[in-house]
Amino acid sequence: MLSYWEKSTLVHHDLIVVGSGIVGLSAALHYQLAHPKKKVAVIERGLFPSGASTKNAGFVCFGSISELAENARTDSQDELLSLVEKRYKGGLELRQLLGDTNIDYRPIGGYELDFQGDLHERMATFNEWLKPLFKSPVFSDARDKISSFGFDQTKVKGLVKNLFEGSLDTGKMMDAFARKTRETGVQFYTQTEVLRYEDQLNGVEVTVSTTDGPLQLFTDQLALCTNAFTKTLLPEADLEPGRGMVLITKPLTWAPPQGTFHYHSGYNYFRNAGSRILLGGARHLDLKGETTTKEGINILLKEQLIEDLKSFIAPNRPLEIDYAWSGIMAFGEGKAPLLLHPSARVHAAVRLGGMGVALGTGLGKELAQHIFDSR
Ligand SMILES: Cc1cc2nc3c(=O)[nH]c(=O)nc-3n(C[C@H](O)[C@H](O)[C@H](O)COP(=O)(O)OP(=O)(O)OC[C@H]3O[C@@H](n4cnc5c(N)ncnc54)[C@H](O)[C@@H]3O)c2cc1C
Repeated sequence: MLSYWEKSTLVHHDLIVVGSGIVGLSAALHYQLAHPKKKVAVIERGLFPSGASTKNAGFVCFGSISELAENARTDSQDELLSLVEKRYKGGLELRQLLGDTNIDYRPIGGYELDFQGDLHERMATFNEWLKPLFKSPVFSDARDKISSFGFDQTKVKGLVKNLFEGSLDTGKMMDAFARKTRETGVQFYTQTEVLRYEDQLNGVEVTVSTTDGPLQLFTDQLALCTNAFTKTLLPEADLEPGRGMVLITKPLTWAPPQGTFHYHSGYNYFRNAGSRILLGGARHLDLKGETTTKEGINILLKEQLIEDLKSFIAPNRPLEIDYAWSGIMAFGEGKAPLLLHPSARVHAAVRLGGMGVALGTGLGKELAQHIFDSR
């Protein structure tokens, strides 16, 4: 039972953001920064964000050569260049917003492993194509590093470096993001699920779960930043979930390769995380099975990742897998995220794919701007 005080003040908001992933935090933060007197709340069903933002690998990237080539099958060259620009500039924006030290950003470069030995032949084309954006060559031949990284040279026949990629500490990034968002005055409700909403004449009624049962909140504007879980609240959103898995080794007694590494057109990746190796992906081996919003470990993928680790990433090295986890992404036909406005009061910024670390800040900011402009 609500008190008069709760009914008259506490249930009312100017903006409710659903989801405390990168996009939700960025939308709430940017809206509150621009409009300090507005009452903004972020509602999250988990204790921590429970989708992708705290589960990812922490690559600040925009695409390896083979990944961009694969994207080019569905997206035009202009669309792809604009997406690369959004990813690259989005990464810079995230770093500027939170500070490199706070997120442990490391400009260590990205590398693509090549099993055929001809990837470097495509560098010139892609460097030319990306020149308007980066002004200098993005990709360089790194075959001389294959042996010092400890890869099996009979399998890894080529290595191409992307000079503009780096890594961050995902936990530190989300912690810094949440702290900054709270400091602006945004209210957080965690372990609270938005069950449904109703667009009404004077605002939106939002029904949330509480330990005492469902409760109605009211807001002038509603922002769904629920990525893979959006269809529950907005069935017409054109996206489908895609689970991703990550493994981490126990601390190693030897120095793991420093960098962010991709292979199989970006489906697989690994990096060092302190003295451990973090590796993940391989979703392409069971796309149907991984089209789910349920967390879980796919044994087929896990075994293949361990096999990769032992056979060509760190052959003949002592290592043990410590544990595994999964997170849920959202994908669609095109690679660009969706910014939707199903009504004048309800908005959604979703479908971040596998590069939301770079894209999320900018998308959330764009959403915040749109919400204010549309009023
Ligand atoms: C294993 C893995 C590795 C990845 N690696 C990288 C990488 O290295 N680099 C990169 O750029 N990207 C990576 N990504 C992708 C990136 O993490 C995502 O694109 C990004 O985090 C999406 O952010 P988001 O805010 O849109 O969604 P999310 O982080 O999923 O946030 C959505 C939030 O909404 C909440 N929510 C949903 N429904 C409700 C509801 N009804 N009520 C209340 N709350 C709700 C969820 O609990 C969730 O916290 C990876 C993803 C995964 C899974």
